[in-house]
Amino acid sequence: MWCNPLSRITELYEKKLRIIERLKSLIGEDGARKASLDSHSKRVPRPCGLTIHTGVGCDYACAYCYIYDMGFPGRVRPYPLKPLEMAYAIASNPYVLPEKSLLAYGSVTEPFHPITKNLALEYIENVSKWLKPLSQVSTKSFIDDGLAKRLSIAEPNISILLSIATLDKSKELEPRAPDPIKRLEGASIAIKNGLNVTLFVRPIIPSVTDREGEKILAKALDYGIRDVVFGSLRVTERILKSLEARGIDIDAILARIPRAFRGRGDQVTIKESDIKKRLVSTARDMGYRVYPSACSANIASHGQFCNMCSLGPCGDPSRKEKISESDIGDYLEFRGVKRFDIQFDEKGVLMKICEDSRGISKEIAWHISIATRLRVSLKSVKC
Ligand code: SF4
Ligand code: SF4
Repeated sequence: MWCNPLSRITELYEKKLRIIERLKSLIGEDGARKASLDSHSKRVPRPCGLTIHTGVGCDYACAYCYIYDMGFPGRVRPYPLKPLEMAYAIASNPYVLPEKSLLAYGSVTEPFHPITKNLALEYIENVSKWLKPLSQVSTKSFIDDGLAKRLSIAEPNISILLSIATLDKSKELEPRAPDPIKRLEGASIAIKNGLNVTLFVRPIIPSVTDREGEKILAKALDYGIRDVVFGSLRVTERILKSLEARGIDIDAILARIPRAFRGRGDQVTIKESDIKKRLVSTARDMGYRVYPSACSANIASHGQFCNMCSLGPCGDPSRKEKISESDIGDYLEFRGVKRFDIQFDEKGVLMKICEDSRGISKEIAWHISIATRLRVSLKSVKC
């Protein structure tokens, strides 16, 4: 008997459902309930992917850190989910698709802090085994040989973002974080173990990072890094005070704040396109590959291609996804979405959906977007 093969996206969705079931059988009802209540099972992914928390809080006390304005404590404790529970929470997130989702470890803590390092590794090992995502980790830690070896087994293409904002003022601005040179030594160990390391010059602190930019880039080259991403500074009123207290000229920052603060804890990204432009040009002159964003480094690290936003296209065009209009149509049908029309080209997908399907179309549109790595636009029409 001839059977209609499942379309690629439907196949991935069915795989997701099977993974959820298998993980549930391993962690039991209590584990599944705990993981289902956790935010990793619910959060809408950010442009860099779904952020994975390996701990709660951070004691590195960086003067520019905004996690303290988000209510996270100045001490770190391991995240309360066990590794398989974390894998279940992520698999259950409606927006996640195996083999397609981007995961970003360490956005609100330092994943390889001594207190959370082992748990972070266990998260990466288990989540990668079950979901095969495109993982990225941002860190200020020293990557020793043992850590590099475990990472290269768990996720050989993992994208490591090594954060450095200053070499000269690190003691004042990042008093408890590992010394930047030590971080670079760790980067070279990771590279020797076959891992992809990108220099993450973030945050760019006016009057500090712009002055040191060339020196940071040159030093990172010495340690074998060839890729770079630049990231802007976000400030709150507290961060401004903290920077000023540590001897930073905040006039140079104040001049770049685009709007008034809307209360305590409000984070404002300062305008730095001119500084970034200069740094990008310097980096290119030095032979760096410059990525426009963290996700771009992640896509490149996994040898993939993406054209999901206006910063793209990113990655290797020869690795474009071979997903057809009928793949998309089959998936919509499988999910019970009444489609009216699908227009699909190199740049994006326009889906005309019958009005009564609107309630479920957001996560489905996201699946189609990450499966095709194209922008998806939705239009509701009367059917
Ligand atoms: S290491 Fe990261 S999370 Fe920790 S204080 Fe510094 S910026 Fe914040
Ligand atoms: S096109 Fe590039 S920058 Fe945009 S989402 Fe994709 S990888 Fe990220």
